[in-house]
Amino acid sequence: MPSYQSIIYSKLPRVGESIFSEMSQLALKHNALNVSQGFPDFPVDPSLISLVHEKMKQGHNQYAPSYGLPLLREKIAQKIWNTTGIEYHPETEITITSGATQGLYTAISAFVREDDEALIFEPAYDSYVPAIKANGGLAVYAELEPDTFTYDWTKIKRAITQQTKVIILNTPHNPTGNLLTEHDLERLENLVDGSDIIIISDEVYEHMTFDGRKHVSPTSRPKLAERTVVVSSFGKVWHNTGWKVGYVYGPAELIREIRKLHQFLVFSVVTPIQHAYAEYIDREDTYLELSDFYQKKRDFFLSLMEGSRFSFRPSEGSFFQLLNYEGISDLPDEDFVKDLVKLNGIATIPLSPFYHLKTKGKNIRVCFAKSDETLEKAAEILCKI
Ligand code: PMP
Ligand code: GLN
Repeated sequence: MPSYQSIIYSKLPRVGESIFSEMSQLALKHNALNVSQGFPDFPVDPSLISLVHEKMKQGHNQYAPSYGLPLLREKIAQKIWNTTGIEYHPETEITITSGATQGLYTAISAFVREDDEALIFEPAYDSYVPAIKANGGLAVYAELEPDTFTYDWTKIKRAITQQTKVIILNTPHNPTGNLLTEHDLERLENLVDGSDIIIISDEVYEHMTFDGRKHVSPTSRPKLAERTVVVSSFGKVWHNTGWKVGYVYGPAELIREIRKLHQFLVFSVVTPIQHAYAEYIDREDTYLELSDFYQKKRDFFLSLMEGSRFSFRPSEGSFFQLLNYEGISDLPDEDFVKDLVKLNGIATIPLSPFYHLKTKGKNIRVCFAKSDETLEKAAEILCKI
């Protein structure tokens, strides 16, 4: 037997199982209500399922073109144009990926080389840092303000150096639900002006914004758009996170580099689903009504939480709500959520795994992409704590 320890020099020595898998497994083990990992517990539209079935029966079962079905790319370009008035060319500026996760990994791999710095904002979604590190890059962390989770651009400016290659944005934000504002983008534009920094903008929750707020993307500012790659996912929009289809778009030169790697990571993405999506995407209501749909769920859940000892500011977007337990317990967040699963029968997500050095903050994340029945049960348990 070889000594694996001596032959493997791990690229990710400190990476274990993701907090989302861990909490979902704990929920199963303790038969607890699962409002931890971000996935809907209500069904996918049956007509979409029939459409995929139909496409399979029609014989769309072999490799799709590597960059994605041309018709789907055209329809995505049309959707971006209809919702933002910005033009992306389907042939050269859009690529279909296996979920946003592959889009992010491929974009980060395309632009981050040995010793390059990539700036991320903490709390940060868990897939950014491993992708930076696996490519030999250095993650540089700028922390959002502890209570409001807003951006302090003076502090952020100090984190940018000659080595900064990439800045990763996420709006609407997982886990806080906050949105980037026009003001944030103006400050960002000033910061990157004259540099070669590339922006990767994770916008998987773009269609879930609340209380009349609008999603603003760096692509809305031409000077940022020319250096921005957007990563998006259909899984969030059509309630089918397990289907793993997403897409990236940006200037042709940047997408060309991403495509080189994409070919050898997955080559192409599941064919019958791309055919079905190219048709289903015409149903604009399925994404234009999503904000209302999720705002109702957020409001329903928070109305039930009024009598609880948790404090909260209503989420601005995404399908996540933070709850603050400062008035309830002194425990660190990771211990607090473990007790919640074991003693109270509810699985939530702590915020520490979204930081490289944990957090002293006392917030947990609840996913409200759930049936009203699940939300009722969740609030009932949480109100007793
Ligand atoms: N980015 C963020 C912020 C997410 O929350 C998620 C998944 N929930 C992803 C990317 C990954 O999306 P996908 O499931 O399409 O890979
Ligand atoms: N993005 C989802 C969340 O935040 C989880 C996705 C995953 O498990 N990788 O809960």
